[in-house]
Amino acid sequence: MKKTIKNFELKGKRVIIRVDFNVPLQDGVITDDSRIVKSLPTIRYAQEQGAKIILLSHLGRIKKEEDLAKYSLQEVASHLANLLNQTVYFSNQTRGKELEDAVQNLKEGEILLVQNTRYEDLDGKKESSNDQELASYWAKLGEIFINDAFATAHRSHASNVGIASILPSGIGLLMEKELTFLSSLQNPEHPFYVILGGSKVSDKIGVIQNLISKVDGLFIGGGMAFTFLKAKNISVGSSLVEDDFLPFCQNLLATYPEKILLPVDVHASCQMTQEGESRIIPIADIKDEEAAYDIGSQSISLYKEKLRDAATIFWNGPLGVYEIPKYQTATKELLDFITSQGKKVILGGGDIASAAVNLGYEEKVTYISTGGGATLEYLEGKELPAIQVIQDQ
Ligand code: ADP
Ligand code: MG
Repeated sequence: MKKTIKNFELKGKRVIIRVDFNVPLQDGVITDDSRIVKSLPTIRYAQEQGAKIILLSHLGRIKKEEDLAKYSLQEVASHLANLLNQTVYFSNQTRGKELEDAVQNLKEGEILLVQNTRYEDLDGKKESSNDQELASYWAKLGEIFINDAFATAHRSHASNVGIASILPSGIGLLMEKELTFLSSLQNPEHPFYVILGGSKVSDKIGVIQNLISKVDGLFIGGGMAFTFLKAKNISVGSSLVEDDFLPFCQNLLATYPEKILLPVDVHASCQMTQEGESRIIPIADIKDEEAAYDIGSQSISLYKEKLRDAATIFWNGPLGVYEIPKYQTATKELLDFITSQGKKVILGGGDIASAAVNLGYEEKVTYISTGGGATLEYLEGKELPAIQVIQDQ
């Protein structure tokens, strides 16, 4: 067990909290503040305990001078101030006198947000390569380090791994929740089913390998279904196929013939648009020039039938090209089905998370993981460096 924020005496201490404020922006306006909202419990807890709070986060990627203005956290500071209904100090610097003075002036319960940690990437990728000198500079600003940014936990950066290896460290409340839900999948209540969609088999090989022995069924959809189908010598027209991964799929199908479920029909078209003519057909009827963009109605019924007795479901990757309304059907119908039955449903992955939120299922699922790559790496059984470095209880 890793130390959590609750294991520390925070009163009067300068506490650095690494948060995930990597929000989507359009023309400088925050289009979705859920990452900020999800950080509030940890920030509020630190406040109630009388900490002097220093927040660090990255935002986007900084490669050239022009990216600086584009990815300033200034707007996020104002937004956070509105959400908390109190002043949030903002340091435009990631190091220097202005920042150090702002830290020294903090009183108990006050909050300072530091400019985007990746400003330090402009000159030699110091943040992203976990530059030791930068990490010790930031560490000196605080006395305790709390990491609450799960989505970057698979990366070894100065603002997560670097500071944690210097200061007494713990995880925040959001990170704790992530680890509780994701680790429960290592020893789930059965029947345990995994629904896997998304575009590519190659992105998901590690997860498949780690979970296949634990699951009672693996339901495949999305683009990756067509590499599996082709591996069974079924013609899939112009659907997405990764030929290099045919042997992997053949091997898996041969080893676990009963566990893997594949679609029997598809929603196909000659063009990937909402307007293009499309049809729902058995896989055998797919023409060379057609590609499948969603699984079909018979497959949806088949999957529902088999998912009926599930106790635990983990789902990564949408079942179709959900960005186009008519190819959302399978994703929406299965979300609807599994959330109406009181089952434990955990979603992980950027696209399945945004599909669930956009389709109105955020409140209905048990948990939506906040990590994309970090969630997948965790489920592959890898140690995440930013968690590994945190002190044990
Ligand atoms: P997640 O972010 O949940 O891990 P992925 O990133 O692996 O999911 O995949 C999401 C992408 O997969 C979406 O952009 C979606 O359009 C695409 N996709 C789903 N089904 C298909 C399909 N049949 N053909 C091509 N792309 C697909
Ligand atoms: Mg994705």
